[in-house]
Amino acid sequence: MSAALNQPPVSATNSEWGSLLEVKDLEFSYGEVQVLRGLDLVVEAGKIVCVMGRNGVGKTTLLRNVMGLETLTKGSISLGGKDFTRRPASERATAGIGYVPQGRQIFPRLTVEENLKVGLEAAGKTIVPDEVYTIFPILWEMRRRRGGDLSGGQQQQLAISRALVTNPSILVLDEPTEGIQPNVITEIGKVIRRLVEERNIAVLLVEQYVDFVREFADSFHVMNRGSFVAEGVTDELDDSLVRRHLSV
Ligand code: ADP
Repeated sequence: MSAALNQPPVSATNSEWGSLLEVKDLEFSYGEVQVLRGLDLVVEAGKIVCVMGRNGVGKTTLLRNVMGLETLTKGSISLGGKDFTRRPASERATAGIGYVPQGRQIFPRLTVEENLKVGLEAAGKTIVPDEVYTIFPILWEMRRRRGGDLSGGQQQQLAISRALVTNPSILVLDEPTEGIQPNVITEIGKVIRRLVEERNIAVLLVEQYVDFVREFADSFHVMNRGSFVAEGVTDELDDSLVRRHLSV
């Protein structure tokens, strides 16, 4: 098939083409300081899209805008072809975004099971589906332990599971490998990949760990000072690009 035949007709809606999240010309400022400058981003069902970049360039701020935790100054955000630019975070969660914030933000004094129930409340449900424990079996063993007693890797698994209890169509993850030992990083990567393949969910990932991106993501965007300065499929994430845009 020629490249031209792969293009959707102009009249096709995003949802018909599996585009779950579409960010257009997004700008955002903290007070006088402009942090995001004209970002365009599309995340399709069945794909893992990664945003990379050095500290302080605006990656977390982008995710917070996507989640509706910050209010953009310009641009638009749509989910499944519907405009959500002015919709609150709660509506975005109900519409199918699951968010795993940086630092995991689990409740240390609540048990694993109680932490998962907090995630369920967003969807108006109360019983944790057993399926959640099959994704990360360690959480079943730990279900009566307090969140604060878990290792960093287990807390990340809990944070991801908490986002999954509502059965999201897009998972938004902010640096899931941060502070986690390598064997758990690989397990988390494999689980995310499996979810994408089996459930056809979309994943938007902020990640600085290049090997993880190369192994698990489909495509990448590199951000610098609030703009995307490079993007491509993961095979194009070569060493010279990493040196130029990502090395400290
Ligand atoms: P990254 O995730 O790439 O490390 P952030 O999105 O956290 O970057 O931050 C982008 C910029 O916005 C940084 O310069 C940071 O200092 C600034 N910033 C982040 N949060 C706030 C805030 N609540 N108020 C003002 N400036 C902020």
